[in-house]
Amino acid sequence: MQIETVTGTIRELATTKLDELDARLQGPLVLPDHEDYEQVRQVWNGMIDRRPAFIVRCMTAEDVVAAVNFVRQHSLRLSVRGGGHNVAGKSVLDGAMLIDLSLMRGVSIDPDNQRVRVEGGALLDDLNVEAQKYGLAVPTGVVSETGVAGLTLHGGYGWLSRKFGITIDNLASVEIVTADGKLTHADAHTNADLFWAVRGGGGNFGVVTVFEFQAHPIEPQMWLAAPTYPASQRKEVLARFANFMGQAPHELSGLASLWNAPDDPEVPAEIRGKPVITTVGCYYGSVDKGKEVTKPLYELGSSPVDFGGQMPFVEINRFFDDDYPDGHFYYWKAAYLDRIDDEVLEILADFHDRRPSPLSNTDIWFFGGAISQVAPDDTAYPQRYTPFMASVEANWTDPDQSQANIAWARQQFEALQKHSPGGLYLNFPGFAEEEHDIEDIYATNFERLSRIKAKYDPDNLFRGTFNIPPRGGGE
Ligand SMILES: Cc1cc2nc3c(=O)[nH]c(=O)nc-3n(C[C@H](O)[C@H](O)[C@H](O)COP(=O)(O)OP(=O)(O)OC[C@H]3O[C@@H](n4cnc5c(N)ncnc54)[C@H](O)[C@@H]3O)c2cc1C
Repeated sequence: MQIETVTGTIRELATTKLDELDARLQGPLVLPDHEDYEQVRQVWNGMIDRRPAFIVRCMTAEDVVAAVNFVRQHSLRLSVRGGGHNVAGKSVLDGAMLIDLSLMRGVSIDPDNQRVRVEGGALLDDLNVEAQKYGLAVPTGVVSETGVAGLTLHGGYGWLSRKFGITIDNLASVEIVTADGKLTHADAHTNADLFWAVRGGGGNFGVVTVFEFQAHPIEPQMWLAAPTYPASQRKEVLARFANFMGQAPHELSGLASLWNAPDDPEVPAEIRGKPVITTVGCYYGSVDKGKEVTKPLYELGSSPVDFGGQMPFVEINRFFDDDYPDGHFYYWKAAYLDRIDDEVLEILADFHDRRPSPLSNTDIWFFGGAISQVAPDDTAYPQRYTPFMASVEANWTDPDQSQANIAWARQQFEALQKHSPGGLYLNFPGFAEEEHDIEDIYATNFERLSRIKAKYDPDNLFRGTFNIPPRGGGE
């Protein structure tokens, strides 16, 4: 078999070597002639159509150890897939070996210590469903089909972030297979440098087999406000929402979405299928208190239609799921923003009007609260004090429209740059075009990251979505 090496050359790999690997695995080894190959190589983004040399479908940490040892011994190019939802799709590479964790989705709960252990291939829904059974939740993202692994390793913003910080702020430890093939525990006291690095450094340091989170008690029902206003009101509504969130209690996390209301008979005719702004607020606490705190969201403009209501946290996390089906075409980029002033409002409104696809949207995320109570160098994730982020999400189904949709997203991202403090949220990375800016993206954390990389992965086996090159002799 022809396979790419870690240095980018192509070499021959004897099938007897693959047989030896297969004999060590509990999970299946999927070669291109395997009946599952076509299905297993897919990721969420239909733009990504790559053919790995072969796929190791790990079922246990021992399988991951065997796979990493194989990669190192044969100097192979590697990719690692958790939930397969990163828009750049670098969890699958042409001609490389793929470590697929989609058979490792177990979740276990320690209710006494409110700790949740999640395997490296789990999706947010796997975590939410188990945790909710014990009245617990972990702060993750806003769409339940997203992978826990990728989201966590690059930060993780979601419905509980302003109260409890981003996902990595709730990470207690990891079990990780490092490049030497060792299953290593890392937490604040043991291998603390590695634990610092995985909290923001992406997939550069090894394969995480288990994430252990500190969970938080939640009410059985919570309140999600989602008042929706016609596009004619979007600038005033968004300006007022931003103002309100600046003073809102940290129990309230929120985002505003510039999108099209569903073309659905149940949606009132005045907004059905039309451009709208939805101001979403998720309240951590009782339903009654949530209704009280989010009352101003219903007064940001006139005559809103509400898509929200009371529901369990599990359902809150599924609220947007239908908008992001597997296999559609996606190109997403996010710009951090210093402010939402008239110029920013104008840019957002202009691009809202100019979407080539009615499925596309731009979301404005509100930060602050617990997110900014962590210093930029406490974890590898550097962006702590920015108040807003705009995620520009081009979503479409017609392959002939790819260029127009990508251009729309890129142009909006560029237009927002002059209102941005810089940086890049690596969980919405487009096609990872800015990889060469990696030093600037990690800012003052870059040097430490590259030294830790040199200690744990000197041969740069793990490239992640954005590769942090090893430099120096370790910490
Ligand atoms: C519909 C949708 C909604 C989203 N919503 C949010 C949101 O609310 N908040 C937010 O912050 N982000 C959100 N994101 C972005 C999301 O965080 C990233 O796409 C993330 O990379 C997804 O993780 P994954 O495991 O599914 O990715 P994958 O594509 O499987 O992996 C991405 C990269 O992570 C690394 N990796 C994956 N698994 C492991 C592992 N076990 N060990 C080591 N490295 C690993 C690899 O380098 C891989 O290339 C959303 C994405 C989508 C598609």
